[in-house]
Amino acid sequence: MCGIFGYIGRRPEAVKLVVDGLKLLDYRGYDSAGYVALSEGKFISVKKVGKVAELEASLSDLLTPSNIAIAHTRWATHGKPTEINAHPHFDDQSSLTVVHNGIIENHDAIREMLQKKGIIFSSETDSEVIPQLIGYYYKGDLLKAVQKAVGKLKGAFAIVLMHKNHPDELICVARECPLAIGIGKEEMFIASDAHAFLTHTKKVIYLHSSEIAVIKRETIEAFDGNAVPITKESEDLDIDVEKISKGHFPHYMLKEIYEQPQSVSNALLSRYSDEYGTAILDELGMTDEELYKIQRIIILGCGTSFHAGLLGGYMLEERARIPVQVEISSEFRYKNPIIQENTLAIAISQSGETADTIAAMRELREKGAKIIGICNVQGSTLAREANASLFLRAGPEIGVASTKAFTSQLILLALITLRFARMRTMSQKEGKDFINALTCLPTQIRSILDHADLIEKIANKYASYENFFFLGRRFMYPTAMEGALKLKEIAYVNANAYPAGEMKHGPIALVDDKCIIVAFCSDSVTYPKILNDLMELKARNGKIIAIAPEGSRELFSIADDIIIIPRTIDELTPLLAALPAQHFAYCVAKKRGTEIDKPRNLAKSVTVG
Ligand code: GLU
Repeated sequence: MCGIFGYIGRRPEAVKLVVDGLKLLDYRGYDSAGYVALSEGKFISVKKVGKVAELEASLSDLLTPSNIAIAHTRWATHGKPTEINAHPHFDDQSSLTVVHNGIIENHDAIREMLQKKGIIFSSETDSEVIPQLIGYYYKGDLLKAVQKAVGKLKGAFAIVLMHKNHPDELICVARECPLAIGIGKEEMFIASDAHAFLTHTKKVIYLHSSEIAVIKRETIEAFDGNAVPITKESEDLDIDVEKISKGHFPHYMLKEIYEQPQSVSNALLSRYSDEYGTAILDELGMTDEELYKIQRIIILGCGTSFHAGLLGGYMLEERARIPVQVEISSEFRYKNPIIQENTLAIAISQSGETADTIAAMRELREKGAKIIGICNVQGSTLAREANASLFLRAGPEIGVASTKAFTSQLILLALITLRFARMRTMSQKEGKDFINALTCLPTQIRSILDHADLIEKIANKYASYENFFFLGRRFMYPTAMEGALKLKEIAYVNANAYPAGEMKHGPIALVDDKCIIVAFCSDSVTYPKILNDLMELKARNGKIIAIAPEGSRELFSIADDIIIIPRTIDELTPLLAALPAQHFAYCVAKKRGTEIDKPRNLAKSVTVG
């Protein structure tokens, strides 16, 4: 997690530049923030607990002039979110300073070794071993010391380092954590996510696989993990800076909910053929023959991406009749999975940087599976390392709770389903009907958003309750999981998701008049079944909010409140049902006064595993 920002150039306002850059990264972690600038041979450092805004508020108008600085916003993994544990960290001589994203797995051993040599540590973090170790190895050649230290570090990291004796350079390293270098005119920017420096430059280089770069105002010297010099080609980023602002919305999350008619259209754009009733996924880079040979699919994801993956599994098995295994990446990577020939893996991650998904993908690749990435960020680790990638085209998602990325992930999984199904079991006519359902979605989403007032009214009615069950069957079960996750993450409400049929196997014991049941009732196959489940819960005084398609008359006598959504095919109804669930969670959180875009303890991209 965490956001890193660095600057080296000719402008004297390096501090302002790095703090401004950090502001665009604080969705990555906001336990503490800090910076160090080098000015007239001295380090000037400020650190604050909390969000970047706290750090910014502490800046005076008379900022120390400096043209080289590094900054960090933290998502604590080792050590409490205190000022002492805030980055940047220093060696014990205060000669060099480091910001770090990731986890140093062997920090204990390194700390012990250095302490035996008399080196004094000031923080509880794993990160502090980095400057201390580099300081210990430093004998005048900074690059050599960095290379030697990096060779000893285990784990994942992106690092930016500044040394008093080398005031004209920053050294960066990236292993399994993202780091982008923006090339300006006689100035360079470094950030965990390239969008943070887009207002300055769109020319970018990404570091990965333990690559090290020595960055000066006008040059970048790069080395691979074995200290061999390499040439890094820059690329031009195609991101619209405008899209990164909140516009007239009070929160990014709300803006992103409202962007879904557009993001869903973007995900579909030129990816289907009406005429042939099939999906056009040239980005897969696979021939029909290769696709036809696939006998098993593994889908990987964490959090919201896992829920999308579960739905992808239901779709693919139902329509394309291919066996699909959907796995949580953090579990799968330690399972020593058995990979048969002709297995295709689909790895899903909004940021393309989710550490567990990347690790699981690498494990699968080593075992011979072909990998398709589904992600939103070009140039991300997933996009680079997968055999092929399908991009969401959703635009930057800044709200920590994923909304538009989820619905776009579902679109891509539906298109993959269509492609596979048309080669196997689905007729052209059925393919055309599927496409018709897909293309109706943006209008249907708009019609749901038009009823936002009703959702807000219902959310306000139930916002003070502490116990929620989110229930569904078949396609509605992963949707219920996603709805419950939204409520947990932004409103801090205990929301359990269950397949509705499971309630009587235990959880029903918790149901009483203080328990709210959010029931997802738009799966046509299991609709009569969920009506029975709800009757059982109503008999125990549970209060029921039903999300159901038009014409669900039976529910009017069962549910306390109903949110009606348009009808579509079962495979796509999770997408429509997700909209009221997202908006419901948003309104409950607003009513409860929580920090919607930056919920406590969370960060947007989980780059630690
Ligand atoms: N492991 C480091 C810490 O806890 C860095 C965490 C991060 O990536 O923000 O300080």
